[in-house]
Order: sequence, then C-alpha cells, then structure tokens
Amino acid sequence: MKNNIVKQNIRTKYILALSVFVFTALNLTMVHLKVAKKMILAERFYGEPGAWIEIFLIALYGAIVVYYMHNPSNVAKWRKYTWGLFSVVFFSQLILGISGFHTFLMTAGKLHLPVPAMIIGGPIFRYEIGFMTILFLSTIILSGPAWCSHLCYFGALDNLLAKGKPEKGKIKHKTALKVTTMVLVVFGALIMRLSGTSYTAAAIVGGGFGIVGILVIIFVSRKKGKMVNCTSYCPVGTLINYIRFINPFRMYIDESSCTLCNVCTSHCKYDALNPEDIINKNPGINCTLCGDCITSCHAGSIKYKLFKFSPETSRNIWLFITVSLHAVFMALARL
Ligand code: SF4
Ligand code: SF4
Ligand code: SF4
Repeated sequence: MKNNIVKQNIRTKYILALSVFVFTALNLTMVHLKVAKKMILAERFYGEPGAWIEIFLIALYGAIVVYYMHNPSNVAKWRKYTWGLFSVVFFSQLILGISGFHTFLMTAGKLHLPVPAMIIGGPIFRYEIGFMTILFLSTIILSGPAWCSHLCYFGALDNLLAKGKPEKGKIKHKTALKVTTMVLVVFGALIMRLSGTSYTAAAIVGGGFGIVGILVIIFVSRKKGKMVNCTSYCPVGTLINYIRFINPFRMYIDESSCTLCNVCTSHCKYDALNPEDIINKNPGINCTLCGDCITSCHAGSIKYKLFKFSPETSRNIWLFITVSLHAVFMALARL
C-alpha cells in the first residue's frame, strides 16, 4: 500500500513536470512565432537558434521547479529562491537596459515605472487599458492571487527580507492602511489626469510611492518577519485580495482535523493565519495560496480546494498553472 502511494507520488511529479515543460514551451513558442518584436531575449543576441535554446531552457526550468515544489515541505524554500531569482533577472535586465544596453529592454527606450501601484494608477492616469492590465487580469483569472506569491518582481523583495519568525499578532490597522493607499493611488491618478499634470511629474509621484514601498520592506517587513509592504501598503495586493475570488482556487482549514493549536500562524508571512482566521476555518483575505504553511500543520488540515477535486489534485492543478506562468514570466518580464 505504502509502495503504491510512493509510486503514484513519483508518477504525479513526472506528469506535472512534463505538463509544465510542454505548456511553457508552447506558450513561449507562440509568443516567438506570433509577435513581430523579438520577445525572447536570446534571439536578440544569437538569432533563431538562441530563441529555441532559451525556450527549451526556460521550459526545463519550469519542469524542475514544479518537480521539487510538488513536495509541500520544499515549497517555502523553492518559492523564496525562484521568486527571488525572477526579481533579480527582471531588475538586472532593467539596470542593463537603462545603462545603455538597450537590447535588454522590451520597449526600446519607452520605459514605464517598475512600481506595482502603476498597474492601477497608470491606466487611470492615461485613460487607457494596456497590455499590462490585460496580462494582470488574465493571471488572476488563471491562478487567483499567485501574482503576489510567484509573479511580481517587487513582492519577491518583501518575501526575501521578511525572514525569520513572524512577529506574533495581527499587523495593526492593516485594512485601514491598505484601503487608504488604494484610495490615494486611484484618486491621486485621477486628480493628476484631470489637472493636466505632466507625465514627468506623475512619474516622480509614482517613483516616490515605490520608494516608500522599498523603505517599508527594509525597515518594517524585515523587523516584523511579515510582508508588510504586500499586506498593508501595496494597492495592487489590496485589489487582488478582493478580486481574486473570480478564480475558483481556495485554501481552507479542515474543521474536523484542526486542533486550533495555532502553530501554523507563525508560518504565514502574509498575515493570513491569525487565530481568528483559524477559528473561521479560512485563511484571511491576504492569503496568496502560496502553500508555505501546509507542512507546518501536524494534522494536515490546511488544504487547497478547486471545485470537487481532492485537495491533492486541486494543489497539483494550481501548481501546474502557477509554475508555468512563473516560467513564462521569467522569459518575458522586462520593460
Ligand atoms: S502586493 Fe504588490 S508588491 Fe506585493 S507581490 Fe503583490 S503586487 Fe507585488
Ligand atoms: S495562509 Fe498559507 S497559503 Fe495562505 S498566504 Fe499564508 S502561508 Fe500562504
Ligand atoms: S497548525 Fe493545523 S491544527 Fe494547528 S491551528 Fe493550524 S491548521 Fe489547525
């Protein structure tokens, strides 16, 4: 019986790895063949063979990541390093691009600010819905809040610096803070638009907003061991908290097995497993489905849910979608 479970586990890991490989490769191939601009970076340096080698390597990367993340006890570590790597790749390309190596830029010089709040403020200020908004909404439809656990170059820094044991107790005034910054960004962008503020001035305000986020990460998240920027400051995180329910994936606490021991509380950097969340049997609204907490529960009570699928199948489907998106973003996310 035990042998059968082990064999099935290994089979599932290989199936997942193969699925992520194929899905990532197909998506990147489509982008490569259908988009006129050279989106695959290696093509810009090594032509057509470079593009195919990069597609193969990125698909392989996705397969390896999902293979290891299939084991829930690897998730927190693998998520930290792969998400961190994504951020390093993104910012390295940006720094090289603005230092004169324009080949690294996607937009050939027309940069937008690498501040997540611009995903909300940008379209309001410009009165236009661009590619970024569509991409952002698509990821929420596909994988719910995974943007904030695997896909955002900025949140990875919050995750890296909020290390150590999270401080006990809920982040104070979290909801008031995040709703306030959200309102400030929405109305700030609208007022700047209506008052005819120049793009340069608006970019300075947006940049200032991003710098405050970095200071929050360095001085508050690091001290508290919780991702304070992502849970209490970033308006995109707030928006995702509320619209993520258009996606059917959920995380829940199994009432019949949970002993209310609260051990899992100290394994959530998103401040989503406070005692009241545990009593409610649902992680708080900040939950990004990251999965860091699963193995902290001695009773195996924290589970993924997708329609009527079993918790394991639900988790595997979520991993397949999320890691594939992460791999595709790794190849394409640059300004
Ligand atoms: S909350 Fe904001 S900074 Fe954090 S991961 Fe989400 S979008 Fe990025
Ligand atoms: S409750 Fe668990 S899955 Fe949700 S954010 Fe916290 S650690 Fe991640
Ligand atoms: S660790 Fe498990 S049993 Fe303990 S409170 Fe959390 S979900 Fe319940």
